Amino acid sequence: MNILLVEPDYNAKFPPLGLMKISAYHKGRGDKVRFVKGIREHLDTGYERVYISTLFTYQFDLTVKTIRYYKRFAEKIYSIFVGGILATLLPEKLQEETGIKNVIIGLLDNSKKIGFRDKINIDSLTPDYSILDSSSSYPDAYFLRAPRGCPNSCSFCAVPRLEPKFYECSILANEIEEIDRQFGKKRNLILMDNNILYSKNLPEIIKSIQDAGFTNTRNYISPSPIETFLREIDNTEDLSVKQRREIEKYIRRGIEVVTTSKDRDYLSSLLSRFSESSSPNNIIKQSGGRIERILSNYVPVHPVQRYVDFNQGLDVALLNEETMRLLSSLPIRPLRIAFDSIKDKKSYIEAVRLAAKYKITKVSNYLLYNYLDKPEDLWERIDVNRKLIEELGIHIYSFPMKYSPADRTDRTYIGKHWNRKFLRAIQANLNLFSGLVPSEYGFIRKFFGETIEEYRKILYMPFDFIVYRAHFEKRGLLAEWEKIFETLSTEEKAELCRIVGGRHIIEKDADSSKRLKKILPYYQMKYDDSKGI
Ligand code: SF4
Repeated sequence: MNILLVEPDYNAKFPPLGLMKISAYHKGRGDKVRFVKGIREHLDTGYERVYISTLFTYQFDLTVKTIRYYKRFAEKIYSIFVGGILATLLPEKLQEETGIKNVIIGLLDNSKKIGFRDKINIDSLTPDYSILDSSSSYPDAYFLRAPRGCPNSCSFCAVPRLEPKFYECSILANEIEEIDRQFGKKRNLILMDNNILYSKNLPEIIKSIQDAGFTNTRNYISPSPIETFLREIDNTEDLSVKQRREIEKYIRRGIEVVTTSKDRDYLSSLLSRFSESSSPNNIIKQSGGRIERILSNYVPVHPVQRYVDFNQGLDVALLNEETMRLLSSLPIRPLRIAFDSIKDKKSYIEAVRLAAKYKITKVSNYLLYNYLDKPEDLWERIDVNRKLIEELGIHIYSFPMKYSPADRTDRTYIGKHWNRKFLRAIQANLNLFSGLVPSEYGFIRKFFGETIEEYRKILYMPFDFIVYRAHFEKRGLLAEWEKIFETLSTEEKAELCRIVGGRHIIEKDADSSKRLKKILPYYQMKYDDSKGI
């Protein structure tokens, strides 16, 4: 069969594991598989199967657009299969909008779900890493899961709907060995489990990770770009610009270090042929082995540290002396902890202190907001981290995560105690640091406020004043705004939020008080306009 795998063009930190497993399944049947990201023009039509992955429900519009586009590439509407998180949460809506018939709900644990009779648990197959070439921007890592599901049922979380049953499934060391055998070694290990600490087999899981080479020693030697390329060559149509550049750099480095003129001449002539060729795949295919042999005599090998990342955040309620001791035997970076509610403050502080006690010095935490929390709760959790950084001298950075109900197809949901203005203020701050609250005390103080009063004031601040704080400060505009802001009553502040509403356009409101009318022009000031002031 001729198979097309499509991942919509959303930003994803991790590769499409579901599609990679479907690829492994089809290749195991002897089928031909092609993977594309986003809308790709100039593709052949007539694929016997098209599989499209989905992720978050707020990416609904982009996902629907991608499915509609790829309908023309499938032989029949029945040949298109859509699966993943969004598909599981909103199957009917997806069918309504796209007309597709086959939506895979939940894990692909039986090939029957995609119309085959061999009853293979596709979810348990080793993902086909070869569909991602080395030019992709995903981390150089194994992406694995030990248990599936989570026994808790936190009301804000979609996991109980996606994977309602908690069960242990794989021996990590075996999976890693299989990936090494088929696709070559990866540096790090990213575990995507929802609640690994709940596993009764935690000591065995940790042992299995250590057995696979993840210990607190520098023991990883990354493969050369040529080794990687030679491994990928059967799946690579043309070298990407990045691959080409890396191979050139590698050969150039070789020319600098070789000591015999014979080796130097060989590499120099190879480099010029490689750089001038419009299809250099064959050059590397034929010469790769010799380049590697030559350079292995000269280029020193520096083993580096590998890291383990429990990416979904560890359950703070299950972090105790015993689990922390076990975890600390792994090279964890960072230790991610779920700090979803201010109610977890005590357990969170204890967990971070334990981490420091066991010499884990890079900690990260997920801060859920815009749910049932108050804006002040977010500040308090940031402040907890600020104090822990001071007390323990470790790095702690936070990922505030805006709550959005699992059924929403956009990101406009506003929590009970929040408003659009406050949400945009938080977003403005987070945008400055790629979505996270950094570990540096000075930044936290400046952008989230030294005190809760300062933080509250920042929430009301005009958007451009938050983003370009120093600029507006220098021109005295921030002080002017603050002076008027201090005169506003509680009702006027609430009214201000309603009027500015987080949007750039200010509604003209004839009923506004004199003081409000005085402050509104500051919300219309843009960074560019004020440059000349
Ligand atoms: S513990 Fe985590 S994964 Fe489990 S239901 Fe709660 S938020 Fe979801």
